Amino acid sequence: MDGKYYKSLVEAFNEAIEAANDAIFILDSEARVWFWNSAASSLFGYSRQEIAGTQLQKLVVLQEEYDALFDAYKAFQMRGQEKAVGRTVEMEARRKDGSKFDLELSASAFQYRKTWYSLNIARDISERKRAKRELENSLQQYWGLAEEAPIGIISCDVKGKIIYVNSKALDILGSTSMEETKKINMLTFPLLVKYGFSEKLAECFETKKFAIHELHYKSKWGKKVWLRIHIKPNTSGNEIVGAQVIIDDISEKKLLEEELRHLSITDNLTNAYNRRYFLQNLEKEIERSNRTGSQFSVIMMDIDYFKSINDCFGHNTGDLILKRITMEMMKSVRKIDTLARWGGEEFVFLLPETGLDKAVFLAEKLRHLLIRIKFLEIGNVTASFGVVTYHTCDTADKIIQDADNMMYKAKEEGRNCVRFVRE
Ligand code: GH3
Ligand code: MG
Ligand code: MG
Repeated sequence: MDGKYYKSLVEAFNEAIEAANDAIFILDSEARVWFWNSAASSLFGYSRQEIAGTQLQKLVVLQEEYDALFDAYKAFQMRGQEKAVGRTVEMEARRKDGSKFDLELSASAFQYRKTWYSLNIARDISERKRAKRELENSLQQYWGLAEEAPIGIISCDVKGKIIYVNSKALDILGSTSMEETKKINMLTFPLLVKYGFSEKLAECFETKKFAIHELHYKSKWGKKVWLRIHIKPNTSGNEIVGAQVIIDDISEKKLLEEELRHLSITDNLTNAYNRRYFLQNLEKEIERSNRTGSQFSVIMMDIDYFKSINDCFGHNTGDLILKRITMEMMKSVRKIDTLARWGGEEFVFLLPETGLDKAVFLAEKLRHLLIRIKFLEIGNVTASFGVVTYHTCDTADKIIQDADNMMYKAKEEGRNCVRFVRE
């Protein structure tokens, strides 16, 4: 068998202690050094000869720490047991050169020839302490930042329980108190379920993927907002342990987007849709009709002798008439219909799910409605109508052209009437 031959177990034991990385020393009942290994010499800077017989006091920086330790040894010596012996304590220690470091000391006791001794294993834990302090510092900074952040931050566990929520999140969600909000379970709270938040969170737990969503939300406390939420799964190894949710109030941006969209699809004088939006919808309707076989119709309407109204009463009055007519027409069409200003004093109606008969009926209704409106000074205004129903393979251009032709036919045949392409 390989290996060194030892004369005795004590010799082998001594050599092992000498070779140990940890400082190991034995103190007698008066806390004087009785044994000191090489690692202890390196740690404290005292050789075995220098330290032998010296009291532990030399190595401990704070008198209170030394007193506590010494009392513990004393008590142990008297009663054979004491809390401080047999456990690990941390203290500040001093090297021979006066420099200080954090020491971890594990002491246990034994009796030899009726005298108590303590066996101490010591370790420099300055680095560990420093890392811990740094971690605590950065955690504190992190929470400080989170608290002051201009965005909402919520942290929850995998069961949806809120672990952390910052004040901006309370503000955005319209919550009145931290306590109330912390009671919310993010996977089951009815409002979060209703507005789709819980589903997105559950999705994140399932896919383990970061995701961004935009949601409309009305809080328990009545606040209505548009939210952009960033959900990031928190993992430990491969396991999901919760999620970090960042909430941004994008209500203003949404409002602006809605305003821009409204501006881009409506005519600013009459507030009817514009030609571009009408054509988009017409293309969609053609596509839908080809797919489902549903019918739809288009009405083109042109106000009669509008130029003379302008000429007699001025352009402003003409504008007011256009606005008023649009308003009345809007009231007479369904939500699914599109009423657009085709240009000047011409309007178009897109009527989904409507065959020719119904469309002609509606055009007649609109014609009568117009006649009944009384404009101050002017009296009433009339219009001419062209009606067309979609046939498979018709293009948007053809539909418009046909409706326009029928409207001109109505003009030719005396105005204030409805003309349509027969099926
Ligand atoms: P018809 O019965 O043949 O349709 O005669 P009309 O006078 O209505 O037709 P015409 O095309 O000759 O004239 C249309 C007029 O509509 C000319 C134009 O000044 C007027 N118009 C177009 N856009 C506006 C507008 O935004 N405001 C006002 N006040 N008038 C407009
Ligand atoms: Mg006209
Ligand atoms: Mg015209």
